[in-house]
Amino acid sequence: MTPEEAAELRSRRYNATVVYLQKVHSDLLVMRVKPDFPRPPHQAGQYCTLGLGYWEPRVEGCQAEDLKPDELNKVVRRAYSISCSVEAEPGTLYDPAASDWLEFYIVLVRENSDGRVPALTPRLFALKEGDRVQLGEKVAGHYTLAPVQPGDNVVLLSTGTGEAPHNYMLWSLLSRGHTGKILSACCVRYGRDLGYSATHQRLMGRYPNYKYLGLTTREAGATKKVYIQDLIAHGELEEHLGAPLDPKMTHVFLCGNPKMIGVPTRDKATGAVTYPQPPGVIELLEARGFQADVSATKFKGTIHFEEYW
Ligand SMILES: Cc1cc2nc3c(=O)[nH]c(=O)nc-3n(C[C@H](O)[C@H](O)[C@H](O)COP(=O)(O)OP(=O)(O)OC[C@H]3O[C@@H](n4cnc5c(N)ncnc54)[C@H](O)[C@@H]3O)c2cc1C
Repeated sequence: MTPEEAAELRSRRYNATVVYLQKVHSDLLVMRVKPDFPRPPHQAGQYCTLGLGYWEPRVEGCQAEDLKPDELNKVVRRAYSISCSVEAEPGTLYDPAASDWLEFYIVLVRENSDGRVPALTPRLFALKEGDRVQLGEKVAGHYTLAPVQPGDNVVLLSTGTGEAPHNYMLWSLLSRGHTGKILSACCVRYGRDLGYSATHQRLMGRYPNYKYLGLTTREAGATKKVYIQDLIAHGELEEHLGAPLDPKMTHVFLCGNPKMIGVPTRDKATGAVTYPQPPGVIELLEARGFQADVSATKFKGTIHFEEYW
């Protein structure tokens, strides 16, 4: 494809500009995207799509891609939760009225074992500020704070960039003066993968009802791998929350790796529930009186979840 053809496709297919891009490290970024159209209304926890043309360059060191000629002028789109830096600057909460962009928190998927070559993230990681992208015009998703009452305890559990919607929820709770306790725990491989860590440390100093917990599974020097499931099984989650895990006044939000979440299958005829193994958080919490949302029946429980794949 010639540079002129690529420029023509970009002008026709793209509708938004990258106005801020921070690489936390080579494989993790925070970026803000300003649409050419009015920023779509959205709630904390929801997602929209980002897209780039297959004609765009990919960062090095990713799984090889073998494109057919008719794929080259197509746009690849993926869903991304809207994230939030929570603060506008240290000590001041983010003000949505003072911004015209949406923030995203994205990890580079270098290779994929399920056969599909990662198409979008190798291209997103080649972007720089000022570049153009395609932003979905509609924001969607039921993963929101709608069921949470002001005094409820809120537990936000994530893996990796699954923290994105939780950061927006955290902003929403703090800015509306939520009185219940809030615990956000995120499980990553290395400490450097906790991209918003400094913000969370500051917020804990300012909000006595807020606690952030970063868990690592591969950090050098760490004596053991800690997964979210371990925190629940060993009773540490309550200790960190500073309250019992009481389903009558606690909402748990789970986002990221499906193995951490562990969505059960429910037999329509018999109602029998089968949990995936090894146990995910849903199985551990349902054993303690919590009930997960069931999208097929629109049942709203006290466990809400968003799977990233
Ligand atoms: C509702 C929703 C919201 C999402 N929000 C985010 C977000 O805020 N940030 C984000 O980084 N991703 C998010 N994702 C995942 C995102 O849509 C893409 O799948 C991902 O960025 C990889 O795109 P790709 O084209 O490079 O690879 P794909 O071809 O999409 O490859 C998918 C494979 O990559 C792996 N993978 C996908 N996402 C992740 C991840 N986040 N961490 C580790 N491995 C992953 C899985 O093995 C998956 O099978 C979300 C997905 C959904 C369904």
